[in-house]
Amino acid sequence: MYSSNFIAGFGAPGSGKTLDDFLNFIQLNSPLLASLLVSFKDGTITVSGKGEKLETGTATIGNTIYVDPSLLPNGQKALSFGMLADALAHELGHALLPDGESDEAAALNPTEAIQLGQKAEGSAVTAEFLVSQQLLAAGVPGFLAPDGKPEEYSDRSGGLASSLVGALGNLKASDFTNLDSIKSHSDFLTAAESIGGAYYTNQRPSANPTITYQTSWVSTWFLETQFVESVAQRVSEVCADELMRRTLKDFARNASLISGARMLDGICNDNPTLPALQKYSESHTAIQ
Ligand SMILES: [Zn+2]
Repeated sequence: MYSSNFIAGFGAPGSGKTLDDFLNFIQLNSPLLASLLVSFKDGTITVSGKGEKLETGTATIGNTIYVDPSLLPNGQKALSFGMLADALAHELGHALLPDGESDEAAALNPTEAIQLGQKAEGSAVTAEFLVSQQLLAAGVPGFLAPDGKPEEYSDRSGGLASSLVGALGNLKASDFTNLDSIKSHSDFLTAAESIGGAYYTNQRPSANPTITYQTSWVSTWFLETQFVESVAQRVSEVCADELMRRTLKDFARNASLISGARMLDGICNDNPTLPALQKYSESHTAIQ
């Protein structure tokens, strides 16, 4: 479940920062996170590498969670055990909750792609919030701002966690001890997904200042459904060779970033996401 390069990102035996030390910390401070890790036992937790799509932060693709190695205890931007636990809880929310992973390419239109993306980030934020509340209750530092607002890794200003506390109503974070207990409190889950999804819409998934989560959700939908698939379809009509088809599909994906801004005018008329998509396309064109 833990790749060797993930384990290597922790401290040497005796440092107090080994993976075992971290897992003991989780066991002691968040019953929910300890249980979510058990539920994920068939998955893989590994580090992201240079040249991969995801070089910074953390991400989940299918049954694999990627962590930027610089965030691990041996890394330059090492997170505290508490914040690392919180970030892992976010990714486990993506991997385990019913709406946690979105497939924007399956959406019928840009609006639906945004809704899917919001539900996925909302699910992740829900798991993360509950774990952050358990860590706070256990006295782990870093989860309460000086002004008394609760904090979590996704929002160090405390506004998001405060809204999610409101969604709890009469429930307590300690009521959530495993995956099923999150799923079974469906009213809370729905409300928290909605709050978390709305929060994430305008956040930035990378250092690129022109790309928000909404931009990336809609651009994925656009590239896969309106451009790449239609090119692949045309290619398969004239060429049965699978390798050629895949190669041309990759080419189409790159070419679409360059021509996307122009094409979008015809496809997304009057759609409010158009300016964001144009910026996305322009920024990629500039890099190439
Ligand atoms: Zn996320």
